[in-house]
Amino acid sequence: AEQIAGQLSQLLERIADEVAPLRGAGTVADYIPALARVDPGRFGIAVADLDGGVHGAGDWETPFSMQSISKVFTLALLLAGSDEALWRRVGREPSGNAFNSLVQLEHERGIPRNPFINAGALTVTDELISLVGDATGELLAFLREESGNSALRVDEEVAASEAAHADRNLALTHFMASYGNMRNPVATVLDHYVRQCSIEMSCRDLVLAGLFLAAHGVRRDGSQLLTCRQAKRINAIMLTCGTYDAAGDFAYRVGVPGKSGVGGGILAIVPGRCAVAVWSPGLDKRGNSVAGVAALDHFTTLTGWSVF
Ligand code: GLN
Repeated sequence: AEQIAGQLSQLLERIADEVAPLRGAGTVADYIPALARVDPGRFGIAVADLDGGVHGAGDWETPFSMQSISKVFTLALLLAGSDEALWRRVGREPSGNAFNSLVQLEHERGIPRNPFINAGALTVTDELISLVGDATGELLAFLREESGNSALRVDEEVAASEAAHADRNLALTHFMASYGNMRNPVATVLDHYVRQCSIEMSCRDLVLAGLFLAAHGVRRDGSQLLTCRQAKRINAIMLTCGTYDAAGDFAYRVGVPGKSGVGGGILAIVPGRCAVAVWSPGLDKRGNSVAGVAALDHFTTLTGWSVF
């Protein structure tokens, strides 16, 4: 393991070369104009290990829209500050359906399958607003502190564009509200959700911000954000639900907890060892980065660092 750690920079360069033919494969998210403009040929990869070493290759310092990767951080902040009440409002089972699907919500009477599909993340945001008030402000402050990047911000153009094309997310939120599973006004919850998705981060920022999940809940300053047990649980939900209806395939190919976003980023965690982030905007049909998943597949194969 020490030997691999010493060679991480070369390893990441090698992976970037190997996935180069996949740059531009897939489709860039085009449900809002602000995301559709991204250059599909970009690719970045970064690793942060538990000793604080950070390595990267390609466009690893270029900020991109974190989108659904924000769902991991809102869940962590919520669980850090509350009891287990959330689990009365949201399940912990993979959905096997698209991230923005409505169909199971009706069958399960307004209870989303898990916190990493849109419906579940909307309930997490709702709980976080009730807990801290300014949920997005808390999230940004946390991400800035962990990444050491005080310039992190909401991309206002993406946020405005998301808010103007939010019919599906509004429908999900209203539907849950109709079952009594929403505490704050729909408009407030949606506003926070959209702004959280619109935060821009680079692979470098993401691995540093997500390192606590590899470190059994311990933040970079040594303080404990989550208990060991809570960190274990979030990683388990990332593995089973973090890539939506492709979670089985992601476990098969990559074999570590991971959370994707339609901006083309994926944050993956090797518990006890490191955080890895990849970014390439071309998505497969399930909304996961084509070159990103391939790069993570190479990474866990070459290092032997899958959890299996
Ligand atoms: N903002 C996107 C949405 O709510 C996030 C989805 C995603 O990244 N999978 O539809």
